[in-house]
Amino acid sequence: MQLRYSFRVYPSASQRTALTRAFGCARVVYNDALRAREVARDAGLPFPTVGELSKRLITKAKKTPERAWLAEVSTVVLQQSLRDLDAAYRNFFDGLKGRRPRMGAPRYKSRKDTRQAVRFTANARWAVTPGGKLRLPKIGDVRVKWSRRLPSVPSTVTVVKDSAGRYFASFVVDTGPEEALPQTTSEIGIDLGLGHFAVLSDGRKIDSPRFLRRAEKHLKKAQRSLSRKEKGSKNRDKARIRVAWAHARVTDARRDFHHQLSTQLIRESQAIAVEDLAVKGLARTRLAKSVHDAGWSAFVAMLEYKAARHGRTFTRIDRFEPTSQVCSVCGVKDGPKPLHVRTWTCKACGAVLDRDANAAVNVAKAAGLAVTACGAQVRPGLVPAQRSEAGTHPKPQPLTAR
Ligand SMILES: [Zn+2]
Repeated sequence: MQLRYSFRVYPSASQRTALTRAFGCARVVYNDALRAREVARDAGLPFPTVGELSKRLITKAKKTPERAWLAEVSTVVLQQSLRDLDAAYRNFFDGLKGRRPRMGAPRYKSRKDTRQAVRFTANARWAVTPGGKLRLPKIGDVRVKWSRRLPSVPSTVTVVKDSAGRYFASFVVDTGPEEALPQTTSEIGIDLGLGHFAVLSDGRKIDSPRFLRRAEKHLKKAQRSLSRKEKGSKNRDKARIRVAWAHARVTDARRDFHHQLSTQLIRESQAIAVEDLAVKGLARTRLAKSVHDAGWSAFVAMLEYKAARHGRTFTRIDRFEPTSQVCSVCGVKDGPKPLHVRTWTCKACGAVLDRDANAAVNVAKAAGLAVTACGAQVRPGLVPAQRSEAGTHPKPQPLTAR
């Protein structure tokens, strides 16, 4: 399995200048290649290949006065830029042929794009120094915060600058053989609660942790402050940067929360079932905002790959029927209930059911998991609203071997 690992990097002032130059050169080559393809199309000629473009737009261009500065950055970065354009075109044509979701034609890149990136492959001879720095050709040894251990040695590194002006080194690595966890007997269904981030079939209700809620509050405040600033003013520029930062912090906090919770659930449970919400379909409903905000699909994707990696069973249940209409104890369907109804008594078996937990048990049962329905029943005092911040915090460990 391949996973992406990202680490924050802290380039010095001169390294930032060099990176800006690399971003710029990669962008110019990308745009030159896009223009070359458009010219070929308009002339009814076949598209130039990556090899031809590389010769023309990199090797030969470096010898012209207009593009001589391309020599100041690693050639690999420029070649990767051509490959990116090639991939963008392939995806675009595959979309037209119906092989994947339709997407727009590749567009020219701008200096004002919020995300800038360059990629170094093994050919670029990038390295991690014995001191744990990231050695990038024509940029230098950049300080890295190694927040996790890499499971294997990557061949490629992408350096990214985000909209908040932060730099990251991003690696795609093979996770190698799965790391099986000790077997457990616990099997669990998870439902997306309306009032909670998730509700488990054992009755646990999980809310967003405080560090995430605080970051979200901070973002809202920054956004309000931005909207009050006069257009074109210096203060507005400052406020915009603050919003970008607050946004980045929310994104990070949310990812941390998803990692902690998914790791905890995978450790605890041998089998996990979730309801496939088909978020796209929900986008038109009033649920949309809460679903997107909660980042449910990103969380489910984490559960899925962690399950695969640790030898757990993961099942996605289609939206088979409204899970709130069926009693999870006796299975009798007793009709829809308005959203404000949080608990009710099953007329067939007399069980007192909690709306969210009942749904979670139904999800688990639909996946064929052996859960007891007791979690769905209301038992005051037995249903802790867990914060679930007890995830693992791996010690930072520098990558030394190359
Ligand atoms: Zn019942």
